Amino acid sequence: MKALTFQGIKTIRYETVKDPGIQNPSDVIVKVSLSAICGSDLHIYHGRESGLDEGTVMGHEFIGEIVETGKSVKNFRTGDKIVSPFTTNCGQCYFCDIGLTARCTEGQLFGWVEGGLGLHGAQAEFVRVPYADSTLVHLPESLDPKHSLLAGDALSTGYFCADMAEIRPGGFYVVIGCGPVGLLTIMSAFEQGAQHIVAIDNVYDRLELANRLGAVAWHLNENPILYILEKTHGVGAEAVMEAVGSPGAQDLAIKLVRPGGIISTVGVHTSHDFSFSPSEAYNLNLTFKIGRCSARYYMDIILPKLEDWKWDLDMIFSHELPLSEGPRAYEIFDRKEEKALKILLKP
Ligand code: NAD
Ligand code: ZN
Repeated sequence: MKALTFQGIKTIRYETVKDPGIQNPSDVIVKVSLSAICGSDLHIYHGRESGLDEGTVMGHEFIGEIVETGKSVKNFRTGDKIVSPFTTNCGQCYFCDIGLTARCTEGQLFGWVEGGLGLHGAQAEFVRVPYADSTLVHLPESLDPKHSLLAGDALSTGYFCADMAEIRPGGFYVVIGCGPVGLLTIMSAFEQGAQHIVAIDNVYDRLELANRLGAVAWHLNENPILYILEKTHGVGAEAVMEAVGSPGAQDLAIKLVRPGGIISTVGVHTSHDFSFSPSEAYNLNLTFKIGRCSARYYMDIILPKLEDWKWDLDMIFSHELPLSEGPRAYEIFDRKEEKALKILLKP
């Protein structure tokens, strides 16, 4: 089959690789109809997140159709259309039981193979899905399939980010980063009752979209700290939602949050140290929440909400390209050229 593989820093190749096959009775094989590129793929692309074997098939956001099922699969049949979360989960361990599907003891991230072990990704014609019964969701017929694809990662992550911020009406909130996840965090925070959101980024096209959603868009270079302190009478934001994943963004978050406030971080952090010290956190009575989204858990909450979603999800999609153009798609998404936002890839 054809796939996009990781070949080292900033090198993605469109090439022929071995077709995946059933390895365990709980597996299914999915023929991918659409996959997407995520900001998380960029951490690998730049080598900030390292360890991935060369030749690993990239990608963890996808929808498709089941073409083969393992012997123990009960909930899905050949021909079923599905949407997947970006990690697999067994549905039986303690963490699955408490809804922390991102930390399933058997869980794997699509598109992560290290030392020969792991799971290939979905920027390909076919992908193997372990623990299909507990991992996959039937694609809702009533929704635009692209919207369901978002629920498998970027939207569930945005919703999780807003959830961790414990939104209450009247609170003053900040979202750092207006990529797909940041924009979906803004929508989710409004959905959860927020009324005042300042959104920060340094890409004008993306700020413009944040503005269209009803947030106050503020350029990173225009002293957001001063602006937010002014707006909150010197107090700071009730919660800061961070969807970047860099020391600079973390440093900004601590400078914007009020004493007793929350920093909710979904940006993937790859550094070994915090940008703030334990004493700064102590002096702020800070609540700091961070981590991988339990997308499978959130899909059950979000997919029904999409039946009647008030915000423009179509603004998140900038391109739909053939899979063969994947290497160029990574380049424009990385450089934020051509107004690239969520790029869909069609095998
Ligand atoms: P993206 O790269 O498109 O978006 C990041 C945005 O942050 C960009 O618009 C960039 O201009 C902006 N930015 C960079 N530095 C900034 C700064 N100092 N202040 C303000 N804005 C800044 O990626 P995305 O797809 O939106 O993903 C965002 C983050 O969320 C990534 O780190 C990704 O790995 C992470 N993520 C986490 C999870 C999870 O489960 N926690 C799931 C999906 C994505
Ligand atoms: Zn992702």
